[in-house]
Amino acid sequence: MNLILFGPPGAGKGTQAARLKEKYQLAHLSTGDMLREAVAAKTPVGREAEAIMAAGKLVSDELICNVVADRIEEPDCAHGFILDGFPRTLPQAEALDAMLEKKGKQIDVVIELTADEAELIKRIEGRAAESGEARADDNVETLKKRLDVYRSQTAPVLPFYAAKGLLRTIDGMRSMDEVTREIEQALPGRG
Ligand code: ADP
Repeated sequence: MNLILFGPPGAGKGTQAARLKEKYQLAHLSTGDMLREAVAAKTPVGREAEAIMAAGKLVSDELICNVVADRIEEPDCAHGFILDGFPRTLPQAEALDAMLEKKGKQIDVVIELTADEAELIKRIEGRAAESGEARADDNVETLKKRLDVYRSQTAPVLPFYAAKGLLRTIDGMRSMDEVTREIEQALPGRG
């Protein structure tokens, strides 16, 4: 089973992905985590991504598609994977389709977690206050920028998957356990 977790920054994709990974033995492909690792390791990808990420903007489609194409080749993806934070633009969604088709794979379901923007801003304030080592992009100003980017560049990907009949929308503002339960019900063959 290959699935996409979709939703604005702070909607809980990472938490839910970790739970699904455990339960269904899926690889968790978080493009944000991959890029943060690249930044920490000062690889060429990391050097290119660092300032863009800190500003809350998107790295180029080409760069992130190359990162994902390599990652999907890893053996742990053979049994299935969760994409978290990708695709984030329509060209990325199209590139993903082409990439998977070449490998004889497909996306089985796209789970959209919806969220209230004011609530997300509160959550990020909490997250930033919690850890002394806040992420470079964990501040309210950058979050607002990222929400703008989500609305203008990422949300337009939703109709692409809706047209394929793959989109399931879930209220991400409910408790983490309720969201998990709803996601499980939305998985193919479990509704
Ligand atoms: P969150 O999970 O908090 O929404 P991520 O950790 O997924 O955010 O992403 C952090 C940053 O990494 C993004 O703001 C963006 O700069 C970069 N990034 C991650 N995934 C992509 C992508 N698919 N396309 C372009 N940029 C990306």
